Amino acid sequence: MRALLNFFRLDTSDAELARAQFRSLSAHLPLLYVILLGNALAIAVVFFDPDKLIKTLISPALICGVAMSRGVWWWRSADPEGLSDDEIRSHLHRTGALSVVMTLAFELWCIWVYNDGDAYGRGSLTFFLGLTEVSTVFCLMTLGPVAMRVAVVSTLSFLFYFSWADNGQMLAQTIVLCLVSAGMVVVVHRHTHSFSELIRSRRNLRMRQHETEKLSEENRRIAFTDPLSGLPNRRELLARLDRLEARADLPRNSLAVIFIDLDGFKAVNDEHGHQAGDALIRSVCLRLRQHCPPHAMLARVGGDEFAVLLEARDAQSAALQLAHTMLEEIALPVLVDRHVLQVGGSIGVAANVDAAGSPRELLRRADIAMYHVKTQGKGQVAIYDAGFDEGRLRRLDIEAQIGLGLARGEFDVFYQPIVDAYSGAIVSVEALLRWPRRPEGALPPDEFIEIAEATGQIHPLGLFVLERAAREIGPLGTLHLSVNVSPAQFRDPAFERQVAHVLEQTRFSPERLQFEITEGYLLANPERVVSAVETFKARGMSIALDDFGTGFTSIHYLRSYGFSHIKLDKSLLAGLSPGAKATMLVTGAINLARGLDMAVIAEGVETEAQAEILRAAGCHELQGYLFGKPLPLAEFIEACRRSGRPLGAERWLRAAG
Ligand code: C2E
Ligand code: CA
Ligand code: CA
Repeated sequence: MRALLNFFRLDTSDAELARAQFRSLSAHLPLLYVILLGNALAIAVVFFDPDKLIKTLISPALICGVAMSRGVWWWRSADPEGLSDDEIRSHLHRTGALSVVMTLAFELWCIWVYNDGDAYGRGSLTFFLGLTEVSTVFCLMTLGPVAMRVAVVSTLSFLFYFSWADNGQMLAQTIVLCLVSAGMVVVVHRHTHSFSELIRSRRNLRMRQHETEKLSEENRRIAFTDPLSGLPNRRELLARLDRLEARADLPRNSLAVIFIDLDGFKAVNDEHGHQAGDALIRSVCLRLRQHCPPHAMLARVGGDEFAVLLEARDAQSAALQLAHTMLEEIALPVLVDRHVLQVGGSIGVAANVDAAGSPRELLRRADIAMYHVKTQGKGQVAIYDAGFDEGRLRRLDIEAQIGLGLARGEFDVFYQPIVDAYSGAIVSVEALLRWPRRPEGALPPDEFIEIAEATGQIHPLGLFVLERAAREIGPLGTLHLSVNVSPAQFRDPAFERQVAHVLEQTRFSPERLQFEITEGYLLANPERVVSAVETFKARGMSIALDDFGTGFTSIHYLRSYGFSHIKLDKSLLAGLSPGAKATMLVTGAINLARGLDMAVIAEGVETEAQAEILRAAGCHELQGYLFGKPLPLAEFIEACRRSGRPLGAERWLRAAG
């Protein structure tokens, strides 16, 4: 019984289904009421009797009035968006109840007038009645239980009255209508079921679509975010640049890109591990972000590379100012894992000041400007200049030529004597790299060493110099050999092994070998230098600090390094004359080194006057054109022979330890 009742119960708990039913009803019910109106009118016309106005005019008029007003209401409620779920539910229930009432009213009215008609009228009436029932049920089909209530109510009333009417003459029609109703109930039941299934599966599809969208949004976020810093990555920056590129109305100097590359980051990674490197990157990001204006975009575009996209009125000056602030911020020391880490920054800036400065081009230009800073000693900010492009192309050319040149044997090593300041004897030689057989013309080392350092080609080049020099200088008695070592080589864990291998191959005594490293490297990597120096010293080699006076090595560090020599940079020798400030400076530096138990080599000595002052100041060894320019081995030996200076005299070396 309960199951049977459930069959007729209108369940509107599914709000979405109810809304879909409402929408379907608003499409069908106006039509239904037009049919009802038409049928009622047709019956009223056939049965009209001026003596029975209540029965044949007022009653159908009432039915038609209600039908019309409902039909108009449904017609105007085509869009249920403005209705709440509860309102929709109550409309459906009201419609459900009203449908039954209207059906009954129409049916009762028909029965009421039935006996007043002739045979033709009665036939038409049952035809219109059946027609109305069928159309009502079909128009209410999406509201299954209601359609079935209507079907049952109308069929039962039809059955009860028309089975007996006219002495059973209508029985055949009644049976047909019952069969049609039964068929309709089955169809309605199936339709109701598939309609709700359709809505449900549409909802599932939508939910799945929503989930897929959420997932792909998450994927997008991951693809466009740098996981370490949480900043947008290069891809996101490029996408933003492309969006700007599509904008035709970008005013001149309204957009700027700042390209930042950390100096010395690789060393932090090498020496303190990747975790420390990551922590440093995170801290740098945090601090850079604090300085970014809200509308600017800060992106991490590479391991230690960042870019800022800035939209501002005078973009170039705004970017320049921001770049300088960021440069200062980057240089602040950070405490990571009880280590004080410090890096620098090289920054390039480019703004759309000319017509060719499209957003993507700005990124390239800022990158080029940053690269220019890298080649000019780092730690600066540069604004892009068209000349930088040329420099970059030239560097790319040289990079390719170095590789070829090494394979084709285009490089040589020249030797420059280092003499004892007092005896004048040649105590050592500095090996200096030359590229005489370069097809495009010889290039001084200053112009290619730094490129080779940047590309890593310094490793094979440096080994070539060490090997060649050890082979050539080895047979020259006790003469010492100084070889320049680049920071990148010093940092390379394989370097110590490679040196040992060369010494073994060439049978060059380690005691005769000295490495020269530049002061700049010490500042960035004090701890690593101390340990490398220790290792080489333990093998018997010595280390000289090259280009002393160009950096800011603190005395505290100098003491702890364990260098045997410092080489005064030749720039310090300019303006050496008795009593001059330069002389006092050099004398101070020499005293300092002596105080720390280090021997001093003055480099770039060109005149006897300079040599005299240096000697008087206590300098141990001298090197410069005055004593000999760098020459190939054979010429070097010949020049030594002609100068009459003894080769390979005893040299001052700091006691080991
Ligand atoms: P450096 O180590 O300071 O080398 C000394 C430079 O001063 C050499 O220039 C030398 O020719 C020059 N010089 C020597 N005496 C005088 C003088 O009296 N007056 C003047 N004006 N200059 C003098 P060079 O050979 O052009 O080398 C330039 C730099 O290239 C070197 O500076 C060194 O840093 C680098 N370098 C040269 N060979 C190698 C190498 O095999 N490996 C590495 N890593 N660097 C090298
Ligand atoms: Ca040197
Ligand atoms: Ca030097």
